[in-house]
Amino acid sequence: MNRQQEYVLRTLEERDIRFVRLWFTDVLGTLKSVAVAPAELEGAFGEGIGFDGSAIEGFSRVSEADTIAKPDPSTFQVLPWAHADGAQHSARIFCDVFNPDGSPSWADPRHVLRRQLNKAADLGFSCYVHPEIEFFLFKSLDTNGAEPVPSDNGGYFDQAVHDSAPHFRRNAIEALEAMGISVEFSHHEGAPGQQEIDLRYADALSMADNIMTFRYIVKEVAMNNGVWASFMPKPLRDHPGSAMHTHMSLFEGDSNAFHDADDEYQLSTTAKSFVAGILRHAPEFSAVTNQWVNSYKRLIGGGEAPTAATWGRANRSALVRVPMYTPNKASSRRIEVRSPDSACNPYLAYAVMIAAGIKGVQDGYELPPESEDDVWTMSRRERRAMGYTDLPGSLEQALDAMEESELVAEALGEHVFEFFLRNKRREWREYRNEVTPYELRNYLAL
Ligand code: GLU
Ligand code: MG
Ligand code: MG
Repeated sequence: MNRQQEYVLRTLEERDIRFVRLWFTDVLGTLKSVAVAPAELEGAFGEGIGFDGSAIEGFSRVSEADTIAKPDPSTFQVLPWAHADGAQHSARIFCDVFNPDGSPSWADPRHVLRRQLNKAADLGFSCYVHPEIEFFLFKSLDTNGAEPVPSDNGGYFDQAVHDSAPHFRRNAIEALEAMGISVEFSHHEGAPGQQEIDLRYADALSMADNIMTFRYIVKEVAMNNGVWASFMPKPLRDHPGSAMHTHMSLFEGDSNAFHDADDEYQLSTTAKSFVAGILRHAPEFSAVTNQWVNSYKRLIGGGEAPTAATWGRANRSALVRVPMYTPNKASSRRIEVRSPDSACNPYLAYAVMIAAGIKGVQDGYELPPESEDDVWTMSRRERRAMGYTDLPGSLEQALDAMEESELVAEALGEHVFEFFLRNKRREWREYRNEVTPYELRNYLAL
């Protein structure tokens, strides 16, 4: 056993922890958990724990159902609250998933991301990210298809006193910090009930783990405050949806490969090619960063959400923004990708975004000029004339673009790529079957 594994076992004993939850994530980004007794953990570090992969979205076909989860001791954390009896805590630990022959499972999103990070590492880069995570608090999620009622009527940056939001945010941040997840900012977002919490940057794999933890913690804390959290991309028709803006930078050793003090934007050639890669491949990877039918209700023009593959400095309609808050600080030179939503699978989303950026760097893509236009107010013709490519307008368009993409197939691996397309085509068909309130309102009298 190595030192980290010993530390885990010692902590379990010292803190009298009776349950360890083994966590992993399915292809669609749902957190999965198996609880084991501490005595089982030593064996799990060695041989792993077997489970029936065929029951998990995207894992395996029934004929090859045996799947093995091996806990990654570096991700061990004690959960920040005790059980109802007040005494016992649980812990969680993320797992890597393997096939019975010991090879990494092609269906494990952690493995997909790690493979991409290894490719970047071969070029000398480590990938750092930080997300701004938006979500809603509602009075109930049990609405039987009606619009949910927000928990408050606040707006952007409001310091409300009569609602649950500030209280909720403080509790959530304390719980996150107790799990080793640092929070940089938090505030009320633009829509009623909408919150934003921004995490301090970390390497992409730790951050994807952190986001999975974040969603779990936020939902628990919300319930303890008598409200319900939702990461649905666009729950309210007349208000903006929930983005997961992602700030990205590449480091070479200790130095930020995105920084160049002499450039007008303080961006290095590497950074510019990376942005060019994101812009060029965004239509292909949208199905991953925006994976639900509902995701495309957010990306329709307005609500500060992007609709075309452009970049700019202060331009909120751009897909990629280059924040200029602290332009001279080399370590914080970064780009912000604004399309991902809060209901993506963070492992897969980071894998495809990094793949796109790195492709731009490797092939020396040229960065198009900065866009100062508000693309929301431009016509399709005007956007074309400016050379702006539109992002997909529906899940179907996104899947069509993804299906043709060598880059996304390569980044996800064949198994996840095929599963994802099949699963999402089915979702789109199901959606098309629906006769919506809109249609009934507008067409019934025909
Ligand atoms: N909620 C907006 C969106 O869906 C983003 C708001 C912001 O700029 O922080 O993209
Ligand atoms: Mg925001
Ligand atoms: Mg932002």
